[in-house]
This record gives sequence, C-alpha cells and structure tokens, in this order.
Amino acid sequence: MPQTMTQTITQTMTQTTTATINLDAIAHNLSIVRKAAPRSKVMAVIKAHAYGHGLIPVAKVLNNADCLGVARMEEAWALRRAGIKNNIVVLSAYFDKADLHSCSEMNIDIVIHNKDSLERLLSVTLPKPLNIWLKIDTGMHRLGFPSHGVNALFCLLHKSDLVADIKLMTHFACADETQNQITSEQTLQFERACESIHAPLCLANSAAILAWPDTHKDWVRPGIMLYGIDPLDKANELSKQLQPVMQMSSRLIACRKIAKGDCVGYGASWQTNRDSIIGTIAIGYADGYPRHAKNGTPVLINNVRVPLVGRVSMDMITVDLTDHPSAKVGDEAILWGPSLNINEIAAMSDTISYELLTSVGKRVNFQYLTDETAGNHLSV
Ligand SMILES: *Cc1c(COP(=O)(O)O)cnc(C)c1O
Repeated sequence: MPQTMTQTITQTMTQTTTATINLDAIAHNLSIVRKAAPRSKVMAVIKAHAYGHGLIPVAKVLNNADCLGVARMEEAWALRRAGIKNNIVVLSAYFDKADLHSCSEMNIDIVIHNKDSLERLLSVTLPKPLNIWLKIDTGMHRLGFPSHGVNALFCLLHKSDLVADIKLMTHFACADETQNQITSEQTLQFERACESIHAPLCLANSAAILAWPDTHKDWVRPGIMLYGIDPLDKANELSKQLQPVMQMSSRLIACRKIAKGDCVGYGASWQTNRDSIIGTIAIGYADGYPRHAKNGTPVLINNVRVPLVGRVSMDMITVDLTDHPSAKVGDEAILWGPSLNINEIAAMSDTISYELLTSVGKRVNFQYLTDETAGNHLSV
C-alpha cells in the first residue's frame, strides 16, 4: 500500500476520537459462524447501522452471507440504494400497503408475526409474490403468532398467490444463559408447532449459535458475534476465535498534578486519597462513552490499564495516571477494542455491549481498515 495512504490513515486516526473498523475481522467472524453451524444458512444481522459499525461497508463485506437481516424498511431501502443485491429480511417493522409493494419490487422479505400484519398482506395486490418469514411466539412475548395453529396459518399463506417462499422463525429470550432451560423449552415448543410443515426453520441468535447447537436448524441469525463480541462473555473454543471489529480510541489532551484530598469532575464526586496525576481524554458521552461508567472502569494507555475517575462528561473523561506517570499529552487512549473487552466496559456501566456499539456518537470519526492497512494497530 502506498506510503501516503498509510500516513493519511495514521494522521486521522491519532487526531480525533475514532472508531476503527477492521473489515477483515467481520469476514473472519462470519467464518466462525459457519464453523459453529456448518449445516445452516446464515442471515447476517446488520440492523442499527450494523450494530453501529456502518451499514453499507459492513453489508459489502458480508456479501457471501445467505441473506442480510435488518429491523426497519429504511435500512432495507438504504441497502438497495447502495446497490446491495443480497436477499434482505426486515425483522421488526410496520408494513403499510406501499411498503409491501416496495418489498415486492425490491426483493425484500418480510416477517409476518400477527393477525394484523397477515391481514394487511392478504389485502394488497403485488407486482410479484413476497418471501415470508412466519414468526412464532414461543415465550419471548414480543412478536409472533401463538404456537398452536401454525399449520392453518402456513396453509393460508401457502395457497396465497401473494406469497412465494415461507420460512418459520422464533426468537429466544435467554439464549445467553447457558444453564437456563427456557431455551430448550422454546426449541421444543417450536419444533412441535412446525413438525408437520415442510419449511426451513430459523431460531438461533449469536448466543444460541455458540451455546445451543440443537437450535441451529436450517438458518441461523448471528448479530453481535459478527462484530467479534462474545454474548456469553464466557469464552468457549469458538467464541475465543472471534475478533472484535471496532476499536474506540482517542487521545490524552491534558495531564495535571493534584493534591491529596482534591476532587475531580462534575459534582466533585471523586476525591483523591493521595497526591495524584489526572489525565483528561477527549471522549465523552456525546461520543458514546457510557455516562454511567463507574470509577475504576479501565482505559488503556500505552498498553497499561488506568482507572476512570470522576464523572463522564459530554466531551471528556478523566483517568488516574498516578501509577502510570510516563503517560503524556498526545498519547493514544483505547476505550474498547481487541485489547480491551467491551463487555468489561459494559458491565462497569450497567449495560451491554450492544448498547455501547449502537450508541457511538455522530461526531466520532470512522476509519475502515483491512488487516493490511491496520498493521499493528489492530493485531490481536
Ligand atoms: C437482533 C436480532 C438477532 C441477532 O441477535 P444477536 O444477539 O446480536 O446475535 C437475531 N434475530 C432477531 C429477530 C433479532 O432481532
């Protein structure tokens, strides 16, 4: 790669609060999904801007997934506008008649999950029949038809000339709890509901792909694991091979000495118990750093973990550098990424990695790299 390009990337990366996205890691994580569920087709879930990583660049890397899953019509349209040709499924949206018409024209699959969505579908005329994912409620109680009576529904859809292909799906409430029997109960209920129907079955999210092999069936629906995060946060042989895709970084913009007993930040909520060095980093809740991160949340500076101290403000956080006195203004600070597990940051903030990833602020600079352009920066 040309030297000038490396320089440009390096400059931009070190000058602003940056989310560095390693696109090769996404392709790698898809290969881990295939390894975990070798007999299943893969719906790569890229809703919410691909979990905050950027809808279009991520969709392009996932072009050999068997289809793409989004939550809203707008996301499906954005993919088509960008020339993405893969099959797309819209998982959780309201479809009016015009939407159904667009889906038919743009080759977008929809989820039929209740009487209302079914009736709206059956009352339209369409340029060509739609592919349908028929959703069954096996205990999540959010979307889906009750598990009795699936046969009748299937027959109704099957004989409609508005409908092309039909698949059956359900969603797990507790797949990330490896000891929780609810997942087996949901699976059994789904299998019974669909037992006399000849159609592909789709149940597993990332946690189920990693922890519940009996749920893999014909299709799996990985989201978070494509971004390199272990939803179980309990590494097994497969999840250990996932590579975090996003690295969130910024820089130290100030360092100061303060005396024992001094306080730091809004509300003067944190007080030193020794003479201390405080570092200020250019990232705040407006960038997506969680405002509720507790004192002691780790930040990585020159590969050393230093603790967050004081409240997170809109544009800055403060860290205690007393035990890392060589840190200096201009040094890079890593907030999460391959070298600092986002699950740890999420736990310290009473949230989950999903929320951190999808909350990255609008002003954050996004850098899209492959392993080659990332060099040591992202090596794991
Ligand atoms: C978001 C979503 C997924 C992906 O879940 P992960 O936990 O991120 O793997 C799968 N299925 C449905 C219906 C979803 O809404």
